[in-house]
Amino acid sequence: MPSIGQQKGRTCATELYQQTIEQLQPGIQLQQQQAKEAAQQYLSQKLQGQEMRKAAGAISIPVVFHVVYNTPEQNISDEQIYSQLAVLNADFRRTNADKINTPTHFAALAGDAGIEFCLASTAPDGSVTNGITRTQTSSASFSANNNNIKRQDRGGAPAWDRSQYLNIWVGNISDDILGWATFPGMGSSSQYDGVVLFYKTVGEPPYNPFRTQFNKGRTATHEIGHWLGLQHIWGTGNESCSDSDFIDDTPNQYKPNYDCPSGTIVSCENGPYGDMWQNYMDYSDDACMNLFTNGQIAYMQAVLNSSRSSLLTSVACNGGLRARFEAETDTLIQAGEQVQFKDKSIGVKPSSWRWEFEGGTPATSTERNPTVTYKTPGTYKVRLTIANSQMSSTQTKEQLIEVTPNDLTVYPVPASDYLIIEQPAHVTLRQVELLSRLGQVMLSRKVTTRKAEFRTTGLPSGLYFLRISSSEGVITKKVTIIK
Ligand SMILES: [Zn+2]
Repeated sequence: MPSIGQQKGRTCATELYQQTIEQLQPGIQLQQQQAKEAAQQYLSQKLQGQEMRKAAGAISIPVVFHVVYNTPEQNISDEQIYSQLAVLNADFRRTNADKINTPTHFAALAGDAGIEFCLASTAPDGSVTNGITRTQTSSASFSANNNNIKRQDRGGAPAWDRSQYLNIWVGNISDDILGWATFPGMGSSSQYDGVVLFYKTVGEPPYNPFRTQFNKGRTATHEIGHWLGLQHIWGTGNESCSDSDFIDDTPNQYKPNYDCPSGTIVSCENGPYGDMWQNYMDYSDDACMNLFTNGQIAYMQAVLNSSRSSLLTSVACNGGLRARFEAETDTLIQAGEQVQFKDKSIGVKPSSWRWEFEGGTPATSTERNPTVTYKTPGTYKVRLTIANSQMSSTQTKEQLIEVTPNDLTVYPVPASDYLIIEQPAHVTLRQVELLSRLGQVMLSRKVTTRKAEFRTTGLPSGLYFLRISSSEGVITKKVTIIK
C-alpha cells in the first residue's frame, strides 16, 4: 500500500483553501477580521478580570462526519471515526499518552484546552443519528481549489447547520494533501464552514488500517486548531522570522518542521530551546506532535466564546430540544398588518407548538408557522413553547413587534419644549419645516428616519404649521406650542 506524503511530509491546504474562498467570496476577509477582533476583545476582557463565562467542566462540541467515498476503501468504518473522536478528546484535554514526550521546558507551556468533541445524536431535522453521514460519489478525488466535497451538486455532501455542529468531511483528497480547515468568520459562506480530512488520516491503529506517518489522527487535531483560529506555528508566511502566529508563548520559528525531528532546532534566535516542533500546529508527523500551548488554548477558547459561541449551547449531542423562532416578515408594521412567524427550533423533534402573541389576532396558535394580525398600535412580545412527551422548551422575545398607527402623528398636543413627528411603518421622513402663522420658516431639517424629535424651546407660544415631506408626499399640519 503506498503511503502518503513520504517525500515532503505533512501538507495542510488551509492557506491554499483560504485563497480559494477569498476568490469565491470577496467579502470573506472582512468577516474573518471581525471574528479575530471579537476573539481579541474576549481575550482582553478576560485579562481585565471580566470573565463572562466560567465553563463548568469542558466545552463539548457536537461533530458530524460526512464520509464521501468513491471506493469501498474510502468508506471508512464507524470504528475508525470513533477512534478519531478519542484522539481529539485526548489531545484537547491533554490526556494523550504521548504527552510525556513533551520536553520539560515546553511542558510548562502546555495545557488542557478544556474542549471535548461528541458525535451528534440529533440531526438537523430532529431525527436520531449516529453523527456520521455516508455519500457515494462518482468523483475520484477532491481538492482544496473548490468546495466540491461540501456540495451535493458536485458529488459531495452538504453541511449541517454550522451554528450547531462542527462539520468534518472525509474523502479522497488529491495532491498528497492531508486536510484543510476554514478559519472563523465564514458568515456568508457558512455552508462551507468546517474541516476536510484525507480518509487515511482519520483515527489511529488498529481502527485506522493505513500504514502512513499520518495515521494517528493528528491531522484532525491540527485542522480543528485552524478551525478555532490558530495559524501554523511558524507564522502565516513560508520562510520568515518577521511573520507570526500571533500567539505569545510559542517560539518564533523560521519554517515548518517535517517528518520526526529530534533534539533542538534553533531558528529566528529562539534558543536555547528552539522550535516547538512538538506543537500540533507544526508539520511534524503524527507520532511527534503532542501539545497546544496555553496561549493557543486561550485563543481557541476566545473563538468559542465569540464567533463560534452558538456551539456552546447546541443540544445536538444530548437529545435535548430548544425553542427558537424568527419573524419571516417585518416586525415594524402598521396597525392591521400581518407578521409571518417561523419555527426554527433545534434538537429532537417536538410534537407540539404553542405560540402566544401579546396584542395579536389570534392571541395563541398551535400551528408550526402561524400568521398573526396586529390591530392596535403598541409594542408586543411573542412566546413559543415546544414540547414532546418528555420535555419542553420556551423562547420569549420581549418587544419584538412594533405596531404604528396608519397615519402621521405629531405629539405632544399641545407641545411645549419638543415635538415628535412619527410616520407609520414603511414611511420615512425627508424634510420637516416649522412655519410661523406668517409663513416664516422657524425650523428646517432634513431627516431620513421614520421618527424625529425637534426642540422647540426657543419659540414663543402660538399657532404654527408643520410642513412634512416624506416618501409618501407632503403634508401640512397645525401645531400649538404653549409655554
Ligand atoms: Zn495547517
